[in-house]
Amino acid sequence: MLIDNHGREINYLRLAVTDRCNLRCFYCMPENGIKYMNRKDLLSFEEMTRLIRVFGDLGVSKVRITGGEPFVRKGIMSFLKGISELETIKEINITTNGTFTVEQIPALEKMGIKSVNLSLDSLDSQRFFDITRRDLFDQVMTTYRKLVDSKIRVKTNMVVMDGRNIEDIYLMLELTKYDDVSVRFIEEMPFNGTEGQGNATIWPAKKIMTYIEEKYTHQKMVDPPASTSLNYKIPGYVGSFGIIPAYTRTFCGSCNRIRLTPQGTLRTCLYGEGQVNFRDLIRGGVTDEVLGDHLIKVVGKRAKDGFEAEKSRSATVPVSESMATIGG
Ligand code: SAM
Ligand code: SF4
Repeated sequence: MLIDNHGREINYLRLAVTDRCNLRCFYCMPENGIKYMNRKDLLSFEEMTRLIRVFGDLGVSKVRITGGEPFVRKGIMSFLKGISELETIKEINITTNGTFTVEQIPALEKMGIKSVNLSLDSLDSQRFFDITRRDLFDQVMTTYRKLVDSKIRVKTNMVVMDGRNIEDIYLMLELTKYDDVSVRFIEEMPFNGTEGQGNATIWPAKKIMTYIEEKYTHQKMVDPPASTSLNYKIPGYVGSFGIIPAYTRTFCGSCNRIRLTPQGTLRTCLYGEGQVNFRDLIRGGVTDEVLGDHLIKVVGKRAKDGFEAEKSRSATVPVSESMATIGG
């Protein structure tokens, strides 16, 4: 078992397999001028598989594949198949924008992918376009429908943004009436690749809930261990909804996750800086044992919460990277 210096078990790796993306979500990336990383600087799939195996031997049993958009990287399906065969990895989940995902759903089902989180910021094609700056709403909705009809558990992610998609909160809740889906509302974080917050007015979890309560009654559900979302059901509806206080950060006390960026930097908190670069270690020729020792060392020095991690950043590196370079 991997235990951090605050007694939290670390068993969950979030791996961003690329920083590239075919959308330009307002809250994640600027519309123009993005400089992608050189391909040779990215971890190769062989390097990622090796790291997952080493981390798995130390106690990581759950992996989320994210990005950028995971399905824009060539070779992703055979990589997923390979890690789905690792004995230590009991659960693989994927976060995707759904634009290239639909053809892969049968293969994902077959390899036992447990759940897919689909980013869906609006159920209106014009608002979707305004947020993502790409006209791909129909493709995403086709993916949504096929996922709901599959064996894979489906969650949707909607970043709540003042003046952009507030009316979608009620529309999303209506999705849960007949679909067995968990629709999640996320507080916007400042990871948009530019200085500053993005939207001036943040919708914190409490405000989202107050808005929901203006129209709906709800029942609290039991949250799974280390859940980042507070989960509820509308009586009589099939699905559920969750609110993720990603900006106000009230869930850090049970945080069980570490992150690997596309270029192999390990981050023990979304709000902190990278601690160690595993790509450089691998390319320097170290053994699995040394890789494991590095993991144990950084996990032993984790910040208590996202606020402490943010404070520990050097002043020259503000919290402003694109989420596509960290993985969300
Ligand atoms: N491209 C994939 C997608 O959009 O699902 C995976 C990568 S994306 C960075 C992962 C998640 O991070 C998405 O659900 C997205 O909504 C969320 N995200 C990105 N930037 C965010 C921000 N500034 N605040 C809150 N969530 C954000
Ligand atoms: Fe791309 Fe996902 Fe970022 Fe949107 S949130 S720009 S889909 S990486």
